[in-house]
Amino acid sequence: MADRDYLDWPFFEPRHRALALALDAWAAEHIGHLDGNDVDAACRALVAQLGQGGWLRHAIGGAGQAIDTRAICLIRETLARHAGLADFAFAMQGLGSGAISLFGSAAQQERYLPRVASGDMIAAFALSEPQAGSDVAALACAARRDGDAYVLDGDKTWISNGGIADFYVVFARTGESGRGSKGISAFIVDAGTPGFEIAERIDVIAPHPLARLRFDGCRVPAANLIGEEGQGFKVAMATLDVFRTSVAAASLGFARRALDEALQRARERAMFGKHLADFQLTQAKLAQMATGIDAAALLTYRAAWMRDGGKRVTKEAAMAKLTATETAQQVIDAAVQLFGGQGVVSGETVETLYREIRALRIYEGASEVQLLIIARELLAGEGA
Ligand SMILES: Cc1cc2nc3c(=O)[nH]c(=O)nc-3n(C[C@H](O)[C@H](O)[C@H](O)COP(=O)(O)OP(=O)(O)OC[C@H]3O[C@@H](n4cnc5c(N)ncnc54)[C@H](O)[C@@H]3O)c2cc1C
Repeated sequence: MADRDYLDWPFFEPRHRALALALDAWAAEHIGHLDGNDVDAACRALVAQLGQGGWLRHAIGGAGQAIDTRAICLIRETLARHAGLADFAFAMQGLGSGAISLFGSAAQQERYLPRVASGDMIAAFALSEPQAGSDVAALACAARRDGDAYVLDGDKTWISNGGIADFYVVFARTGESGRGSKGISAFIVDAGTPGFEIAERIDVIAPHPLARLRFDGCRVPAANLIGEEGQGFKVAMATLDVFRTSVAAASLGFARRALDEALQRARERAMFGKHLADFQLTQAKLAQMATGIDAAALLTYRAAWMRDGGKRVTKEAAMAKLTATETAQQVIDAAVQLFGGQGVVSGETVETLYREIRALRIYEGASEVQLLIIARELLAGEGA
C-alpha cells in the first residue's frame, strides 16, 4: 500500500484528501489495462474516461472558479502512480486549456472549457519551436493582423496531443519581428483550420501523441486572441506556474510507484540465504528513496498551496519541478538497480517508469532552466 500520510499535511483541505482517495479507488478500477500499441486511441479513450468520471473538471478554471493547483497536483500524482498515459491525458487537458481558464474571454471559456471538462474536446499547448525551446523568447512563429483575423505563419514542435487535439493554444509574434518576450500573443487555433497542418508525428521513449505543427497563411478569427495583443508571454508564464508545479507532482507519482515496487521486490527476493531487504545496503537505498520523495513532495505542495493562496510562485514552482523530477529519476534508477536484470525487461513496471520519467526533466523548462529561474528570482529579490 502506497504511503498516503502526505494527505494529512497542512497544505491540504479535507476535500483534497477525499479527492485523492476517491481517484485512487477509481483509477484502480478503470485504468491500468492500456493497449500500448495505439497511443492515439488509448489517449482519446483516457480523456473520455476521465471526463465521464468527472476528474477533468478539476483541470480547468473559468466562470468565476479559480484553478485549484493542489487538486491538479494530487490528481496528477495519483494518476502517475497508476499509469503515465492517464496522467498525460489529464495534464494536457489542463495545460492545453490553461490559458483560456486564466485569461480567456467569457465567450472563449464558454465555448471550450465545458467540453474540455467533459472530455469531448482534446486540448494542446503550442509554445516550443525548432529554434526556440529553452530560449522561448526567440520564438519566430508570426501572426499578422488582417481585418477581422490574424494570419499565422511558422512552425511549432514537440506539441503534445499534436495530431489528436481539437484545438491548440498557439503563441505567435504579433509585434516587431525579432527576439524578445515582448510582442508575443496567444491564439486558439481549431484543428482543421485551413493553413494549419500536422507536419510530422514524433516518437519518443515513453510514447504519447506528439507532433510538429505547420502554419502557412492560417487565418484565425481575431476573437480567438487570448487576453490582449502582446500579453502572450505573460499568459504562457502564468500557465506554466500552475503546470510546472504539477509536473513535479507527476514525478512524485512515478517515484512513489517505484518505491512501492522496490519495497515489494526487496521483501520477496531471496539471496545469500536471506532476502534483499535484510541487507543494510538495501535499507539505506530504500531510506534515501523515501526521504527524497518526501522532501520533493514538501516543495511541490508548498508551491501549490502558495499559488492557491494567490501568491506569485515562479521561484517555488521552479524549485519544486527541479527537485521532484531529478529526485524521481534517482529513485526510479535505484528501483531498477534493486530489481537486477528483471528491472530492464521491457514491460516491467520499473522499466516503464525509467522511460516515463526522463522527459519530465526536459519539458516545461529543463532542469538547467529551473536553476536559472531560481537564481534570477533570488538576485532580483529585496536587497539586491
Ligand atoms: C515529450 C515532450 C513533450 C513536450 N510537450 C510540449 C508541449 O506540449 N508544448 C510545447 O510547447 N513544448 C513541448 N515540449 C518542448 C519542451 O518544452 C522543450 O523540449 C524544452 O523546453 C527544451 O527545449 P529544446 O528541446 O529545444 O532543447 P534546447 O533548448 O536545445 O536545450 C537543450 C538542453 O540545453 C540545456 N540548457 C538549456 N538552457 C541552458 C542554459 N541557459 N545553460 C546551460 N544549459 C542549458 C538543457 O539541459 C536543455 O535540456 C515537449 C518536449 C518533450 C520532450
